[in-house]
Formats: sequence, C-alpha cells, structure tokens
Amino acid sequence: MKSGAEDFEKITYNNRQFEVLILPFTVKGKQKLLRIIFKDITRFVHLESELLKRNKELIIMSTLSNAFISTENMDYVIEDLLDKVLLITDFTIGWLMLKEGEAFKLMSSRGISAEFHKSIEGGLLDAICNDADKTGEPLYIIESSGISKNILMRKEGIFSLIAIPLFSGKLHAGYLFLANSNKQTESFDFDIVSLLALVGNHVSLILGKLKLFQETKRLSITDSLTGLYNRRYFYKHIDIEIARSKRYGNAFSVMLFDIDNFKRINDTYGHQAGDIVLQGLAKILLTVSRETDIVVRYGGEEFIVILPVTAEDEAFALAERIKNTVEETVFTLNDSENVNITLSGGIASFPLSASDSKALLYAADSALYSAKEAGKNKIICFKGKINEKSIQKTSKP
Ligand code: GH3
Ligand code: MG
Ligand code: MG
Repeated sequence: MKSGAEDFEKITYNNRQFEVLILPFTVKGKQKLLRIIFKDITRFVHLESELLKRNKELIIMSTLSNAFISTENMDYVIEDLLDKVLLITDFTIGWLMLKEGEAFKLMSSRGISAEFHKSIEGGLLDAICNDADKTGEPLYIIESSGISKNILMRKEGIFSLIAIPLFSGKLHAGYLFLANSNKQTESFDFDIVSLLALVGNHVSLILGKLKLFQETKRLSITDSLTGLYNRRYFYKHIDIEIARSKRYGNAFSVMLFDIDNFKRINDTYGHQAGDIVLQGLAKILLTVSRETDIVVRYGGEEFIVILPVTAEDEAFALAERIKNTVEETVFTLNDSENVNITLSGGIASFPLSASDSKALLYAADSALYSAKEAGKNKIICFKGKINEKSIQKTSKP
C-alpha cells in the first residue's frame, strides 16, 4: 500500500469543522481508490479563535494602559489614548466626548473634517448621545440606515457609528465614538462588540485615573481656604511669565496686597470671622481682576496678583480700584456682625523694577512696606530698579 500526494481541505458541516484528507490509494502504480479521512477539528478551531481573542484583549489592555503610563505630559493623555484606540480597533475615525454638566464636550477627534468637528461641537450628536443614554446598553450602534438620515454624517462619508459609553465609577462620563467609512463593515459581529466594550472599560479606567491625577495636581496648587492659587503655583508661574515677557518684549506687573490691621479682626471677632474676611477678599480679587490675571494667596493675609502684559501705570489703576472696592465692601461675619477692612498694596513691574522673579517680589514687598509706613490703605509703586545682588546685601524691608 502506497499513498500519494495528500490533499487538505477544511469544511463545515452541521456547525462542526472538519479537516478532510484525501489520500489516493494505488496498487502497482495504478490509482484504484481514494481514502477520505474526516478529522473533527471543531474544538481546535474554537480554541484557536479563543486564543486570538484573548491575545487581542491583552493587546488592548497593555496598549491602552501605556497611554497613561508612558505619557509624560498628562495634557496629551486623551490624544494619545484616542490614537491607540484607533490603532488597536482598526477604525480610522473616532472622537471622544466627555460630559460637562448635562452637555457633552468634544475632547479630541481623528479622521474627521474641521467642518464636521465644528458640527459636533455645535451639538450635532446631542440627540444620539441622549438616545444612547436612554438605552443603557454597553454599545450603541447606528448602522447605515440610521446614518443615511443625517446629511452631515453622509457628507463626511460615515457609514456606521458606534457610541461606547464611558464611566467614572458608576457615573456616566461620556462617549467614545468610532466610525466606519467603509461600506463593507456595516454590521458588527459579536467578537468586535465584546472587544469594543473592553476598550470602553479601559478608556473609562484611564480617564478615571487622569481625573484623579488632575484633581491632585489642582489641589497641590490651590489654597484650601480661598480656592485661589497658592504660593507654590506663584513661584512656578512667575518664571513662566518672565520668560514670556522676555520673548515677546512685553512688560508685566505684580500687585502685592496685605490686609491692614487684620490681627484686630481675629482678636475682636475670632479666627473664623477672619477666615470669612479672607474668603470675601479672594472673591473681590477674582471679580475685579481680568481672566488672564493670576490671583494668589501668598500667605496668611497677603495676596499677589500677576498681571500679564500690563505696565506699571495700568497695574496701579487696577490696584486702586481693588483697594477702593475693598474699602466700600461690608463683610458679613454672621447674623449680627459686619466688618469693614482696608488694604495696602505694593506694585512692581518687569523689567522696569527688577530683572528676575526674586528681585521683583522684593520690589513689590518694599513698595508695600512704604504703603504701610505712609499710613496704610494705600497703593505704592516701587521706584527705581532693584537687582539680585542688592537684595543679598540689604535685609528684608
Ligand atoms: P498690618 O496692617 O501691619 O499688616 O497688621 P496686621 O495685623 O494685618 O498684620 P500682622 O502680621 O500683625 O497679623 C496678621 C494676622 O493674620 C495674624 C494671623 O493670625 C492672621 N492670619 C494669618 N493667616 C490666617 C488665616 O488663615 N486665618 C485667619 N483668621 N487669620 C490669619
Ligand atoms: Mg502680613
Ligand atoms: Mg496685614
């Protein structure tokens, strides 16, 4: 008995997979019969597809986790995350929308036109987001029949759209949208759906970590009593402002304020009343200053405002306005007690008063000292120019 060339074929019969081997059976060089062997490989095929799926799941988990671990600048995590999602899911179009209050904000997008991006920002998908919200399903799929009603999506060449809900803990945090511009992939098989749900879980997890990171970062630069920036942020930011000023040749100013006779408020009404005054003053500073100004609680009852692109005379006018507003404000301590306060302020400008951050602060502090000496409830601009060497020789004013 001699067997000739083997022929393999895979066939499916009755939901089972078979490997078919056809063996020619020859006697004395002449083919007489064919021997056909059916090998049931259903279990192996199943195992193989399970392995491929698990492998894909592992790739998803490690690729997405990497977006968080390897990104040095956290501002880019969302961008990186979206790139990686597209890479592992084989989609070319995608965008991420996160909930802000009741609305959905577009955070990042890939593969769409500027016009479509604008339409999303303008609320194009609000109805879809709300519909998806109502279903509570792990995936919300809009197939081509649904898309055809939407002119903008049709114009964009989108044939199908998947909205994957994102969660922060149990709260719904937004949607990851993935879209196909390929007619052939109009419907989705179960494997893709379950993998996309896994992608959604991991994106949610990473966004949760990012939120936690951002909150920790925010707290590290925030004064807990007033919600203003703290001294740590001031030192970080003043150098950025100096660099910017040098690069663009603009002047900027700092105003240093100190509440007059604040100790008396604490002594008369108690420490808690003092805290209420500090919080009230913080609100005034935020209201009177401009959006680009950086308002800082520098220490106990001392506040600094950094005024970008602002010369000394303009800073003086703003400081006068703050001083007058504070003087006119009645601070309510409790049901029966109100109090008035006054402020003194010192102003220094870069590069007019000093050529580095330390000297600039010293100049503002000197001017503040002069305002206190001149009888308080005053704003004084630093006269002349100070440098670091003279600070080391002179003691603090
Ligand atoms: P001057 O007009 O010379 O600035 O007098 P002052 O009383 O304002 O200054 P002084 O430095 O003698 O007192 C500052 C007071 O601020 C003392 C301190 O107890 C109080 N203080 C600092 N931080 C806080 C705070 O967080 N809450 C409260 N309630 N008081 C604070
Ligand atoms: Mg003080
Ligand atoms: Mg004071």
